[in-house]
Amino acid sequence: MKDSHCKKAYITTPIYYVNDVPHIGHAYTTIIADTLARYSRLVGIDTFFLTGTDEHGQKIEEAAKKRGKNPKEYADEISKVFKDLWDYMEISYDKFIRTTDKEHIIGVQKAFEKMYQKGDIYKDYYEGFYCVSCESFFTQTQLIEGEFCPDCGKSTQIVKEESYFFKLSKYEKALLEWYEKEEKCIIPKSKKNEVISFVKQGLQDLSITRTSFEWGIKLPSSINDPKHVIYVWLDALMNYLTALGYGTDEKRMDYWPAKVHLVGKDILRFHAVYWPAFLMSLDLPLPKHIAAHGWWTRNGEKMSKSKGNVIDPKEVCEAYGIEPFRYFMLREVSFGLDGDFSQRALIDRINSDLNNDLGNLLNRVIGMSQKYFDFNIDSKNVLKYHQKELNEAREHIKKLPDFIYNVQTNRYLEELWKILTLANQSITIYEPWKLMKEGKEEEAMALVALIANLLAKTAIMLYPAMPKSAEKIAKALKFKINHENYKKLIVEDKLLDNFKIEKIPPLFTKIEKELLAERKVKKESKKAEKKEGIITIDDFFKVSLKVGTIVEAEEVKKSDRLLKLKVDLGEESLRQIIAGIKEYYSPKELINTQVCVVANLKPAKIMGLVSQGMILAAKDEDSLTLIRPEKPKRAGTPIK
Ligand SMILES: [Zn+2]
Repeated sequence: MKDSHCKKAYITTPIYYVNDVPHIGHAYTTIIADTLARYSRLVGIDTFFLTGTDEHGQKIEEAAKKRGKNPKEYADEISKVFKDLWDYMEISYDKFIRTTDKEHIIGVQKAFEKMYQKGDIYKDYYEGFYCVSCESFFTQTQLIEGEFCPDCGKSTQIVKEESYFFKLSKYEKALLEWYEKEEKCIIPKSKKNEVISFVKQGLQDLSITRTSFEWGIKLPSSINDPKHVIYVWLDALMNYLTALGYGTDEKRMDYWPAKVHLVGKDILRFHAVYWPAFLMSLDLPLPKHIAAHGWWTRNGEKMSKSKGNVIDPKEVCEAYGIEPFRYFMLREVSFGLDGDFSQRALIDRINSDLNNDLGNLLNRVIGMSQKYFDFNIDSKNVLKYHQKELNEAREHIKKLPDFIYNVQTNRYLEELWKILTLANQSITIYEPWKLMKEGKEEEAMALVALIANLLAKTAIMLYPAMPKSAEKIAKALKFKINHENYKKLIVEDKLLDNFKIEKIPPLFTKIEKELLAERKVKKESKKAEKKEGIITIDDFFKVSLKVGTIVEAEEVKKSDRLLKLKVDLGEESLRQIIAGIKEYYSPKELINTQVCVVANLKPAKIMGLVSQGMILAAKDEDSLTLIRPEKPKRAGTPIK
């Protein structure tokens, strides 16, 4: 985010996937984006701030089905939860885009058509290990233990399907040149280095369509291949353009290229590799900055639904207030690093930074002006007595733009707080009550006015991070937070006109105990069973286990680990089961032996072969052994 003088700025959050309700990570990205957007507007830049929801894909199709809804109904519901949260938190977005919007769909199809005509898209087959949960393909070497998704740990399936490919490999060199040339195209630097080394390993062409599900954008009619829907990442990333009217009404396209795309580190690769490649293919300029932030843990632990420790941002806001929550998120961690949320840390910030340093300072200046000067504040002698303090404050303010343009909100606030320290120290040093006792009224007024002015300057620069609190301070000091006063008090470094200070209620209150404690405990006890991995007897009886006799066994061609088994479960026909045991058992030694079978598992396709069950085995690092009945049993005997 360099050049503050440039006229337009386009700031985006990722569009949030509607497979889940918002958590603290979503709130974090959105609060940062909101802070940048508010800063940008304050300094006089024509700003467009975009957020929204990502609504297509297999995961949504499945989640909707589970709830007996059609995908659109389901997406409407979750999308609204996000929008309502941002509205509740007074996020200043200019547009909330949904990938089910008609303009978005048209724009994506136009882009696909353009890339296709350019020769950047071709049709082929894709075969790979697919994680439904992450909607991503992986190579075998990327998998954990040869089977599990490296991102989410769930088991992957082998999928071979017809697909259109984007010639990502064609852009490898251009991408590396871009990273080289634009120092800050990806921030922070550590993340940029990760991206560069990923690209240097070589880029493979990217599968960008799917035939295995329907909930997505169809190919443009000019290509006439109705089986395919556009892969969710091409669809999703295009939102940054379609929100500006790409492919439909392009009147907002002059906001492009984006000033900053804010993303979580888990989706950086899509933004820093695929997205610029797509843009090059579309002959469009690349974003100025892609800024990747870290994750949040809770009390040092990773947050997850199964642990029951996911933080609902709204709950935190309701307990502690929106503005303290914003302050905490922006102040607590260095951008790019992981942060830890704990109520203790939040309370410390509120009590020390907000209540003591800021809130009490305002109270003191109101109190002093009331006691000594009947609420009057006159800045005329501030320069005479406090040139040094004003100079010092100016030095702090000068550093702020760099911090904001590098998305270092923590350092921005740290620097801003130095002005508050300066103000608080000035009171201690100059002792206004003593000055009054000694009859030095002029000096005392200069000091009170100094404090008021330092608070005013702080309030203006605090506005992007804590808009409501900044406005309250401004109300007490009888000015408005806007671009004109930014110019006057910050750029021109002028002082406040004479005014009568207004007594307002305290900005913050001291927090004595954890406000979320009770609810947290309740939730945890409810989740305790889940946490320990304990299931009820009913859960167990959902699994139908049976003794089966292996009738046929053969190797699956092209696979190092799979055997194809035909198993008798006492049913009319034999079950086909694909099992990953080839390294440990030869087909011959399995025939006519008995195994334990999970008989009611949903059939799955493995390397194109249907598997209608699962056999039980015990596995450690170096060997695997099948679980078998101690004495022969009739095929189909239930296991209890
Ligand atoms: Zn996964």
